[in-house]
Amino acid sequence: MPGNGLAEHPRALDSAAMNRVFANLPTTIFEIMSRLAAEKGAINLGQGFPEDDGPADVRERAARAMIEGPNQYPPMRGLPVLREAVAEHYRVHQNIDLDWRREITITSGATEALAAALLAFVEPGDEVILFEPLYDAYLPMVQRAGGVPRIVRLEPPHWRFDTEKLAAAFNAKTRVVMINTPHNPAASVLPGEDLALLADLCRKRNSIVISDEVWEHVLFDGRTHASMLHHLRERTLKIGSAGKMFSLTGWKVGFACGAPALTEAFARAHQFLTFTTPPGLQAAIAYGLGKERAYFETMRAEFQRGRDRLDSALRQEGFATLPAQGAYFLSIDLAASGIALSSEEFARHAIEHGVATIPYSAFYASPGAPNLVRLCFAKRDGTLDRGAEALAKAKRAFS
Ligand code: PMP
Ligand code: GLN
Repeated sequence: MPGNGLAEHPRALDSAAMNRVFANLPTTIFEIMSRLAAEKGAINLGQGFPEDDGPADVRERAARAMIEGPNQYPPMRGLPVLREAVAEHYRVHQNIDLDWRREITITSGATEALAAALLAFVEPGDEVILFEPLYDAYLPMVQRAGGVPRIVRLEPPHWRFDTEKLAAAFNAKTRVVMINTPHNPAASVLPGEDLALLADLCRKRNSIVISDEVWEHVLFDGRTHASMLHHLRERTLKIGSAGKMFSLTGWKVGFACGAPALTEAFARAHQFLTFTTPPGLQAAIAYGLGKERAYFETMRAEFQRGRDRLDSALRQEGFATLPAQGAYFLSIDLAASGIALSSEEFARHAIEHGVATIPYSAFYASPGAPNLVRLCFAKRDGTLDRGAEALAKAKRAFS
Protein backbone atom coordinates (compact mmCIF):
# COMPACT_ATOMS: atom_id res chain seq x y z
CA MET A 1 0.00 0.00 0.00
CA PRO A 2 1.54 3.40 -0.79
CA GLY A 3 2.21 4.58 2.77
CA ASN A 4 2.28 8.33 2.90
CA GLY A 5 3.68 9.05 6.31
CA LEU A 6 1.33 12.00 6.65
CA ALA A 7 -1.94 10.15 6.41
CA GLU A 8 -4.18 9.21 9.28
CA HIS A 9 -5.00 5.53 9.31
CA PRO A 10 -8.68 4.74 9.75
CA ARG A 11 -8.49 3.64 13.38
CA ALA A 12 -12.21 3.10 13.80
CA LEU A 13 -12.64 0.69 10.91
CA ASP A 14 -13.10 -2.88 12.01
CA SER A 15 -11.01 -4.47 9.29
CA ALA A 16 -12.56 -7.88 9.90
CA ALA A 17 -15.88 -6.49 8.73
CA MET A 18 -14.55 -4.54 5.77
CA ASN A 19 -12.70 -5.28 2.62
CA ARG A 20 -9.06 -5.71 3.62
CA VAL A 21 -7.66 -3.46 0.89
CA PHE A 22 -9.68 -0.39 1.83
CA ALA A 23 -9.74 -0.97 5.59
CA ASN A 24 -5.94 -0.78 5.66
CA LEU A 25 -5.65 2.18 3.39
CA PRO A 26 -4.82 5.74 4.45
CA THR A 27 -6.74 8.70 3.00
CA THR A 28 -5.18 9.74 -0.31
CA ILE A 29 -2.24 12.12 0.06
CA PHE A 30 -3.89 14.63 -2.29
CA GLU A 31 -6.87 15.07 0.00
CA ILE A 32 -4.64 15.20 3.09
CA MET A 33 -2.38 17.90 1.70
CA SER A 34 -5.21 20.03 0.33
CA ARG A 35 -6.97 19.83 3.68
CA LEU A 36 -3.79 20.73 5.59
CA ALA A 37 -3.13 23.62 3.21
CA ALA A 38 -6.65 24.98 3.82
CA GLU A 39 -6.41 24.54 7.60
CA LYS A 40 -3.01 26.21 7.85
CA GLY A 41 -3.57 28.84 5.17
CA ALA A 42 -0.58 27.42 3.27
CA ILE A 43 0.16 27.86 -0.44
CA ASN A 44 -1.08 24.67 -2.07
CA LEU A 45 1.51 23.26 -4.47
CA GLY A 46 0.40 19.75 -3.48
CA GLN A 47 -2.66 18.30 -5.21
CA GLY A 48 -2.45 18.65 -8.99
CA PHE A 49 -5.02 21.11 -10.26
CA PRO A 50 -4.78 24.42 -12.11
CA GLU A 51 -5.50 27.55 -10.12
CA ASP A 52 -7.52 28.99 -12.99
CA ASP A 53 -10.53 27.20 -14.41
CA GLY A 54 -10.47 26.19 -18.07
CA PRO A 55 -12.05 27.95 -21.08
CA ALA A 56 -15.20 30.00 -20.47
CA ASP A 57 -16.80 28.84 -23.73
CA VAL A 58 -16.58 25.19 -22.67
CA ARG A 59 -18.09 26.03 -19.29
CA GLU A 60 -20.84 28.09 -20.94
CA ARG A 61 -21.59 25.17 -23.22
CA ALA A 62 -22.03 22.91 -20.20
CA ALA A 63 -24.25 25.44 -18.41
CA ARG A 64 -26.43 25.80 -21.49
CA ALA A 65 -26.65 22.04 -21.99
CA MET A 66 -27.77 21.62 -18.40
CA ILE A 67 -30.45 24.27 -18.66
CA GLU A 68 -31.72 23.16 -22.05
CA GLY A 69 -31.34 19.43 -21.36
CA PRO A 70 -31.91 16.61 -21.79
CA ASN A 71 -30.53 15.70 -18.39
CA GLN A 72 -31.60 12.05 -18.43
CA TYR A 73 -29.39 8.99 -18.76
CA PRO A 74 -27.30 9.22 -21.90
CA PRO A 75 -26.27 6.00 -23.71
CA MET A 76 -24.13 3.75 -21.53
CA ARG A 77 -21.00 4.10 -23.66
CA GLY A 78 -21.37 7.88 -23.84
CA LEU A 79 -23.08 10.50 -26.03
CA PRO A 80 -22.43 9.68 -29.70
CA VAL A 81 -21.41 13.30 -30.29
CA LEU A 82 -18.66 12.95 -27.68
CA ARG A 83 -17.46 9.56 -28.87
CA GLU A 84 -17.23 10.95 -32.39
CA ALA A 85 -15.37 13.99 -31.09
CA VAL A 86 -12.89 11.79 -29.19
CA ALA A 87 -12.21 9.73 -32.33
CA GLU A 88 -11.74 12.87 -34.42
CA HIS A 89 -9.55 14.50 -31.79
CA TYR A 90 -7.19 11.55 -31.58
CA ARG A 91 -7.13 11.29 -35.38
CA VAL A 92 -6.10 14.93 -35.73
CA HIS A 93 -3.75 15.20 -32.76
CA GLN A 94 -2.24 11.72 -32.52
CA ASN A 95 -2.86 10.09 -35.87
CA ILE A 96 -4.87 7.27 -34.30
CA ASP A 97 -7.80 5.69 -36.11
CA LEU A 98 -10.65 4.75 -33.78
CA ASP A 99 -14.12 3.47 -34.59
CA TRP A 100 -16.25 5.63 -32.31
CA ARG A 101 -19.05 3.05 -32.15
CA ARG A 102 -16.93 0.06 -31.16
CA GLU A 103 -13.74 1.43 -29.66
CA ILE A 104 -14.60 4.31 -27.31
CA THR A 105 -16.32 4.48 -23.93
CA ILE A 106 -16.92 7.67 -21.93
CA THR A 107 -16.29 7.36 -18.21
CA SER A 108 -16.55 9.43 -15.04
CA GLY A 109 -12.94 10.54 -15.13
CA ALA A 110 -9.84 8.53 -15.85
CA THR A 111 -10.17 7.08 -12.35
CA GLU A 112 -13.34 5.24 -13.26
CA ALA A 113 -11.74 4.07 -16.50
CA LEU A 114 -8.76 2.64 -14.59
CA ALA A 115 -11.04 0.85 -12.15
CA ALA A 116 -13.36 -0.52 -14.85
CA ALA A 117 -10.39 -1.72 -16.91
CA LEU A 118 -8.88 -3.62 -14.01
CA LEU A 119 -12.24 -5.13 -13.06
CA ALA A 120 -12.83 -6.12 -16.68
CA PHE A 121 -9.43 -7.62 -17.49
CA VAL A 122 -8.08 -9.10 -14.27
CA GLU A 123 -9.06 -12.49 -12.85
CA PRO A 124 -8.12 -13.08 -9.21
CA GLY A 125 -4.55 -14.39 -9.16
CA ASP A 126 -3.53 -12.75 -12.43
CA GLU A 127 -0.36 -10.74 -12.26
CA VAL A 128 -0.33 -7.02 -13.00
CA ILE A 129 2.92 -5.22 -13.70
CA LEU A 130 3.12 -1.74 -12.19
CA PHE A 131 5.91 0.80 -12.11
CA GLU A 132 7.18 2.77 -9.14
CA PRO A 133 6.71 5.63 -8.59
CA LEU A 134 3.00 4.72 -8.87
CA TYR A 135 0.06 7.07 -9.17
CA ASP A 136 -1.47 6.39 -5.78
CA ALA A 137 -4.77 4.86 -6.97
CA TYR A 138 -3.17 2.06 -9.02
CA LEU A 139 -2.06 -0.41 -6.40
CA PRO A 140 -5.24 -0.50 -4.27
CA MET A 141 -7.34 -0.84 -7.42
CA VAL A 142 -5.23 -3.76 -8.64
CA GLN A 143 -5.45 -5.45 -5.26
CA ARG A 144 -9.20 -4.89 -5.01
CA ALA A 145 -9.61 -6.50 -8.43
CA GLY A 146 -7.77 -9.57 -7.09
CA GLY A 147 -4.62 -8.89 -9.12
CA VAL A 148 -1.18 -9.80 -7.84
CA PRO A 149 1.06 -6.75 -8.23
CA ARG A 150 4.55 -7.10 -9.72
CA ILE A 151 6.22 -3.79 -9.11
CA VAL A 152 9.14 -2.63 -11.22
CA ARG A 153 11.08 0.43 -10.07
CA LEU A 154 11.97 3.20 -12.46
CA GLU A 155 15.01 5.28 -11.56
CA PRO A 156 15.54 9.04 -11.71
CA PRO A 157 16.33 11.21 -13.52
CA HIS A 158 15.07 9.51 -16.74
CA TRP A 159 12.60 7.00 -15.30
CA ARG A 160 12.96 4.71 -18.32
CA PHE A 161 12.43 0.97 -18.64
CA ASP A 162 15.39 -1.27 -17.93
CA THR A 163 15.18 -4.05 -20.53
CA GLU A 164 16.25 -6.86 -18.22
CA LYS A 165 14.23 -5.78 -15.22
CA LEU A 166 11.14 -5.38 -17.37
CA ALA A 167 11.54 -8.74 -19.12
CA ALA A 168 12.07 -10.44 -15.75
CA ALA A 169 8.75 -9.09 -14.44
CA PHE A 170 6.78 -11.01 -17.09
CA ASN A 171 5.66 -14.61 -16.76
CA ALA A 172 2.78 -16.80 -17.91
CA LYS A 173 0.44 -15.15 -15.39
CA THR A 174 1.05 -11.58 -16.55
CA ARG A 175 -2.35 -10.35 -17.59
CA VAL A 176 -2.03 -6.58 -17.48
CA VAL A 177 0.70 -3.94 -17.52
CA MET A 178 -0.23 -0.45 -16.31
CA ILE A 179 1.80 2.41 -17.68
CA ASN A 180 1.55 6.15 -17.33
CA THR A 181 3.06 8.55 -19.86
CA PRO A 182 3.57 11.49 -19.42
CA HIS A 183 4.14 10.44 -15.84
CA ASN A 184 2.67 11.62 -12.57
CA PRO A 185 4.66 12.39 -10.38
CA ALA A 186 7.96 12.06 -12.29
CA ALA A 187 6.94 14.38 -15.19
CA SER A 188 8.84 12.07 -17.56
CA VAL A 189 7.82 10.73 -20.96
CA LEU A 190 8.41 7.15 -22.08
CA PRO A 191 10.24 7.21 -25.43
CA GLY A 192 8.91 5.19 -28.37
CA GLU A 193 11.76 2.72 -27.93
CA ASP A 194 10.51 1.81 -24.43
CA LEU A 195 6.93 1.48 -25.63
CA ALA A 196 8.08 -0.80 -28.47
CA LEU A 197 9.99 -3.00 -26.01
CA LEU A 198 6.90 -3.30 -23.82
CA ALA A 199 4.75 -4.11 -26.85
CA ASP A 200 7.06 -7.01 -27.78
CA LEU A 201 6.92 -8.47 -24.30
CA CYS A 202 3.12 -8.14 -24.17
CA ARG A 203 2.74 -9.90 -27.52
CA LYS A 204 4.82 -12.81 -26.30
CA ARG A 205 2.82 -13.13 -23.08
CA ASN A 206 -0.63 -12.23 -24.36
CA SER A 207 -0.81 -9.33 -21.93
CA ILE A 208 -2.93 -6.18 -22.10
CA VAL A 209 -1.60 -2.66 -21.52
CA ILE A 210 -3.71 -0.17 -19.61
CA SER A 211 -2.09 3.03 -20.81
CA ASP A 212 -2.85 6.03 -18.64
CA GLU A 213 -2.26 8.93 -21.00
CA VAL A 214 -4.20 11.61 -19.11
CA TRP A 215 -1.31 14.07 -19.44
CA GLU A 216 -1.09 13.64 -23.25
CA HIS A 217 -1.65 17.34 -23.94
CA VAL A 218 0.51 18.67 -21.14
CA LEU A 219 3.95 18.32 -22.74
CA PHE A 220 6.83 20.77 -22.86
CA ASP A 221 9.76 21.93 -24.95
CA GLY A 222 8.09 20.99 -28.23
CA ARG A 223 7.48 17.35 -27.33
CA THR A 224 4.61 15.49 -28.96
CA HIS A 225 2.68 12.63 -27.41
CA ALA A 226 3.45 9.02 -28.36
CA SER A 227 0.52 6.75 -27.56
CA MET A 228 0.92 3.09 -26.66
CA LEU A 229 -1.86 2.47 -29.19
CA HIS A 230 0.72 3.02 -31.92
CA HIS A 231 2.78 0.13 -30.66
CA LEU A 232 0.21 -2.41 -29.56
CA ARG A 233 -3.08 -1.56 -31.26
CA GLU A 234 -5.01 -4.74 -30.43
CA ARG A 235 -4.00 -5.03 -26.78
CA THR A 236 -3.90 -1.47 -25.45
CA LEU A 237 -6.63 0.39 -23.64
CA LYS A 238 -5.73 4.07 -23.81
CA ILE A 239 -7.17 6.24 -21.07
CA GLY A 240 -7.65 10.01 -21.35
CA SER A 241 -9.11 12.73 -19.14
CA ALA A 242 -10.92 15.87 -20.24
CA GLY A 243 -10.08 17.36 -16.83
CA LYS A 244 -6.45 17.67 -17.87
CA MET A 245 -7.15 18.81 -21.42
CA PHE A 246 -9.36 21.70 -20.34
CA SER A 247 -8.14 22.57 -16.83
CA LEU A 248 -11.46 21.35 -15.42
CA THR A 249 -10.26 18.61 -13.07
CA GLY A 250 -13.50 18.56 -11.07
CA TRP A 251 -15.58 17.56 -14.07
CA LYS A 252 -14.39 13.97 -14.18
CA VAL A 253 -15.01 13.11 -17.79
CA GLY A 254 -12.71 10.38 -19.10
CA PHE A 255 -12.26 8.31 -22.25
CA ALA A 256 -11.28 4.66 -22.66
CA CYS A 257 -10.17 3.72 -26.17
CA GLY A 258 -9.21 0.31 -27.45
CA ALA A 259 -9.94 -2.56 -29.81
CA PRO A 260 -13.57 -3.80 -29.89
CA ALA A 261 -12.86 -6.91 -27.80
CA LEU A 262 -11.29 -4.81 -25.04
CA THR A 263 -14.00 -2.14 -25.25
CA GLU A 264 -16.72 -4.78 -25.06
CA ALA A 265 -15.32 -6.25 -21.83
CA PHE A 266 -14.54 -2.80 -20.48
CA ALA A 267 -18.09 -1.52 -21.05
CA ARG A 268 -19.54 -4.41 -19.04
CA ALA A 269 -17.60 -3.27 -16.00
CA HIS A 270 -18.36 0.41 -16.67
CA GLN A 271 -22.12 -0.25 -16.90
CA PHE A 272 -22.22 -1.31 -13.26
CA LEU A 273 -19.75 1.17 -11.86
CA THR A 274 -21.27 4.45 -13.01
CA PHE A 275 -23.23 3.51 -16.16
CA THR A 276 -22.92 7.11 -17.44
CA THR A 277 -21.47 10.56 -16.88
CA PRO A 278 -23.51 13.84 -16.79
CA PRO A 279 -24.69 14.53 -20.35
CA GLY A 280 -24.19 18.32 -20.14
CA LEU A 281 -20.52 17.82 -19.33
CA GLN A 282 -20.19 15.31 -22.14
CA ALA A 283 -21.72 17.74 -24.64
CA ALA A 284 -19.39 20.53 -23.52
CA ILE A 285 -16.31 18.32 -23.82
CA ALA A 286 -17.44 17.22 -27.30
CA TYR A 287 -17.38 20.91 -28.21
CA GLY A 288 -14.01 21.51 -26.51
CA LEU A 289 -12.28 18.62 -28.26
CA GLY A 290 -12.90 20.36 -31.56
CA LYS A 291 -10.92 23.44 -30.52
CA GLU A 292 -8.14 24.69 -32.76
CA ARG A 293 -4.60 23.48 -32.17
CA ALA A 294 -3.80 26.98 -30.92
CA TYR A 295 -5.83 26.36 -27.75
CA PHE A 296 -3.73 23.32 -26.82
CA GLU A 297 -0.50 25.06 -27.78
CA THR A 298 -1.33 28.08 -25.64
CA MET A 299 -2.23 25.86 -22.71
CA ARG A 300 1.11 24.06 -22.98
CA ALA A 301 3.01 27.33 -23.30
CA GLU A 302 1.35 28.74 -20.18
CA PHE A 303 2.08 25.69 -18.08
CA GLN A 304 5.64 25.66 -19.39
CA ARG A 305 6.03 29.26 -18.28
CA GLY A 306 4.82 28.25 -14.81
CA ARG A 307 7.30 25.39 -14.75
CA ASP A 308 10.17 27.68 -15.71
CA ARG A 309 9.18 30.37 -13.23
CA LEU A 310 9.04 27.97 -10.32
CA ASP A 311 12.18 26.15 -11.43
CA SER A 312 14.27 29.30 -11.67
CA ALA A 313 12.95 30.66 -8.35
CA LEU A 314 13.88 27.39 -6.66
CA ARG A 315 17.30 27.18 -8.28
CA GLN A 316 18.10 30.68 -7.08
CA GLU A 317 17.43 29.46 -3.58
CA GLY A 318 19.81 26.53 -4.01
CA PHE A 319 17.27 23.80 -4.71
CA ALA A 320 18.10 21.05 -7.20
CA THR A 321 15.17 20.05 -9.40
CA LEU A 322 14.59 17.15 -11.77
CA PRO A 323 13.75 17.56 -15.46
CA ALA A 324 10.01 18.09 -16.06
CA GLN A 325 8.93 17.04 -19.55
CA GLY A 326 5.17 16.91 -19.02
CA ALA A 327 2.22 17.06 -16.56
CA TYR A 328 1.88 19.84 -13.95
CA PHE A 329 4.76 18.73 -11.76
CA LEU A 330 8.29 19.70 -10.81
CA SER A 331 10.26 17.58 -8.34
CA ILE A 332 12.85 18.75 -5.84
CA ASP A 333 15.77 16.44 -5.13
CA LEU A 334 16.20 16.99 -1.39
CA ALA A 335 19.64 15.40 -0.97
CA ALA A 336 21.05 17.29 -3.94
CA SER A 337 19.56 20.45 -2.41
CA GLY A 338 21.52 19.87 0.78
CA ILE A 339 18.46 18.79 2.79
CA ALA A 340 18.99 15.60 4.74
CA LEU A 341 15.32 14.78 5.29
CA SER A 342 13.07 12.09 3.89
CA SER A 343 10.33 13.29 1.54
CA GLU A 344 7.72 12.91 4.28
CA GLU A 345 9.79 14.78 6.83
CA PHE A 346 10.31 17.61 4.39
CA ALA A 347 6.61 17.75 3.44
CA ARG A 348 5.68 17.95 7.10
CA HIS A 349 8.31 20.64 7.71
CA ALA A 350 7.32 22.64 4.60
CA ILE A 351 3.65 22.83 5.52
CA GLU A 352 4.65 24.45 8.81
CA HIS A 353 6.47 27.07 6.73
CA GLY A 354 3.38 27.73 4.64
CA VAL A 355 3.59 25.46 1.60
CA ALA A 356 1.96 22.13 0.77
CA THR A 357 3.93 19.62 -1.33
CA ILE A 358 3.53 15.92 -2.11
CA PRO A 359 6.19 13.53 -0.76
CA TYR A 360 7.29 10.79 -3.16
CA SER A 361 6.82 8.23 -0.39
CA ALA A 362 3.10 8.37 -1.33
CA PHE A 363 4.01 6.90 -4.71
CA TYR A 364 5.99 3.91 -3.41
CA ALA A 365 4.63 0.65 -2.08
CA SER A 366 7.79 -0.39 -0.33
CA PRO A 367 10.37 1.47 1.76
CA GLY A 368 13.25 3.22 0.06
CA ALA A 369 11.37 5.95 -1.82
CA PRO A 370 13.80 8.53 -3.18
CA ASN A 371 13.96 11.78 -1.24
CA LEU A 372 11.96 13.82 -3.70
CA VAL A 373 8.94 16.07 -3.29
CA ARG A 374 6.46 16.97 -6.01
CA LEU A 375 5.25 20.51 -6.62
CA CYS A 376 2.34 21.55 -8.84
CA PHE A 377 3.23 24.58 -10.96
CA ALA A 378 -0.18 25.04 -12.67
CA LYS A 379 -0.65 28.20 -10.60
CA ARG A 380 -0.66 31.98 -10.99
CA ASP A 381 2.70 33.76 -10.87
CA GLY A 382 2.08 35.22 -7.42
CA THR A 383 1.21 31.81 -5.99
CA LEU A 384 4.35 30.27 -7.48
CA ASP A 385 6.48 33.10 -6.12
CA ARG A 386 4.99 32.84 -2.65
CA GLY A 387 5.33 29.05 -2.76
CA ALA A 388 9.01 29.33 -3.73
CA GLU A 389 9.58 31.85 -0.91
CA ALA A 390 7.96 29.54 1.61
CA LEU A 391 10.09 26.64 0.36
CA ALA A 392 13.20 28.79 0.69
CA LYS A 393 12.23 29.60 4.29
CA ALA A 394 11.70 25.91 4.97
CA LYS A 395 15.14 25.18 3.54
CA ARG A 396 16.85 27.90 5.55
CA ALA A 397 15.18 26.81 8.76
CA PHE A 398 16.56 23.36 8.25
CA SER A 399 20.03 23.91 6.81
N1 PMP B 1 -4.13 9.08 -13.72
C1 PMP B 1 -3.16 9.98 -13.49
C2 PMP B 1 -1.75 9.64 -13.82
C3 PMP B 1 -3.49 11.21 -12.93
O1 PMP B 1 -2.54 12.09 -12.67
C4 PMP B 1 -4.83 11.49 -12.62
C5 PMP B 1 -5.28 12.77 -11.98
N2 PMP B 1 -4.38 13.73 -11.85
C6 PMP B 1 -5.80 10.53 -12.90
C7 PMP B 1 -5.42 9.33 -13.44
C8 PMP B 1 -7.25 10.75 -12.59
O2 PMP B 1 -7.89 11.49 -13.55
P1 PMP B 1 -9.44 11.93 -13.39
O3 PMP B 1 -9.44 13.12 -12.52
O4 PMP B 1 -9.89 12.18 -14.79
O5 PMP B 1 -10.14 10.78 -12.77
N1 GLN C 1 -4.15 13.40 -9.87
C1 GLN C 1 -4.10 14.57 -9.04
C2 GLN C 1 -2.70 14.73 -8.52
O1 GLN C 1 -1.84 14.01 -8.87
C3 GLN C 1 -5.04 14.46 -7.89
C4 GLN C 1 -6.26 13.65 -8.12
C5 GLN C 1 -6.96 13.43 -6.83
O2 GLN C 1 -6.84 14.21 -5.91
N2 GLN C 1 -7.66 12.37 -6.77
O3 GLN C 1 -2.45 15.59 -7.72
